Amino acid sequence: MNARRDFLQKLTLGLGLTAMSDYSFGSVANMQEPTAERPLRVALMGLGGYANIVAKGMQECKMAVITGLISGTPSKLKSWQEKYNVPEQNTYSYETMHRIKDNPDIDLVYVITPNSLHHKHVLQVAATGKHVLCEKPLADNAQQAREMISACEKAGVKLYVGYRLHFEPHTREVIRMREEGAFGKIMHVNNYMGFTIGDPTQWRLKKALAGGGALMDVGVYSLNAARYCTGEEPIWVTAQESKTDPVKFREVDETITFQLGFPSGIIANCGCTYNFGHSERLHLMGTKGWAEMVPAFGYGPIKGNTHLGPIDQPKVNHQTYQMDGIAACILNNEPDPNVTGQEGLKDMIVIDAIYESIKKGGQKIVINA
Ligand code: NAD
Repeated sequence: MNARRDFLQKLTLGLGLTAMSDYSFGSVANMQEPTAERPLRVALMGLGGYANIVAKGMQECKMAVITGLISGTPSKLKSWQEKYNVPEQNTYSYETMHRIKDNPDIDLVYVITPNSLHHKHVLQVAATGKHVLCEKPLADNAQQAREMISACEKAGVKLYVGYRLHFEPHTREVIRMREEGAFGKIMHVNNYMGFTIGDPTQWRLKKALAGGGALMDVGVYSLNAARYCTGEEPIWVTAQESKTDPVKFREVDETITFQLGFPSGIIANCGCTYNFGHSERLHLMGTKGWAEMVPAFGYGPIKGNTHLGPIDQPKVNHQTYQMDGIAACILNNEPDPNVTGQEGLKDMIVIDAIYESIKKGGQKIVINA
């Protein structure tokens, strides 16, 4: 019997109180040991590439279980239903998903569809009265993100964004060290995330489905990390775009470099690309020390060093940790490690400003949050 089934059986037997005692969140300072007596029941929406990775990671979850599926492809619903042991009555198309509101087997819907559908899909889930976890980027822009937050608030449901790194032990350790002053005053941050995108016909290269290019997809990692490396919110941005392949990147951005100014006076230099690999790196420098993680943002293993030596944290499955972490937040009302809709909105506000700066030839844009 695998760990998940074993755990679920323990829960059924009412022995769930200690089920997570062997489960380390590394240095997630604000995580208490979960005490929920049942798992979080999750429906996955959009059964594509990343949903496959999430579903696999969830097989090892101790606090979350797949109980529902939403897809526009009936054959996918059938094969996933069999593979993940989901009852047929818990499978939905996009047209029937409003019926989820009557399904007590589902607590949360995880939206894993193309970026520009997040807004519509989160509003639809909120209308069912279920909690929502939405993949990054939260929306196409800050206005949409505000509407999503407002819809979830009105419906009385929680909205989270899929910032899995906030549950990842190396990332948590760097945040903990920064919060405890190990690096002194942070003086500079330098983050980059990118990869070489393949298939020129994929939705990521179409503005109508992707909302934007490298910035939306992977620049959000550099940006979000600049916020967790400094503990500050940017007050201005400048940005530049470079395009070496105007055919492939006709509709969306290929490579963007951006600078973020913070209230303390420091500047973060960040970037992202769809057109070269080996570009995944976080580097923060303070008056007393530094941290560097390479790779820093992919599924890992994340590796890093600080001025004090290697970051010695467990290698974990990011999706397993994220889903158990979200379950702990919802079931136990634990404070979340910066993965709410509000956090997604903060990044969308900066992304809007980055695009505005590019449009205005690199002009400095003051951020009005
Ligand atoms: P994908 O193309 O592999 O899957 C998208 C799914 O959405 C497919 O099953 C597709 O059928 C479905 N879909 C529903 N309506 C659609 C429509 N109108 N057009 C196209 N597809 C439609 O993409 P993916 O890589 O799984 O990405 C999905 C989301 O997950 C994106 O928002 C992406 O940013 C996010 N993602 C996050 C991570 C992470 O590490 N957090 C990693 C990869 C992707």
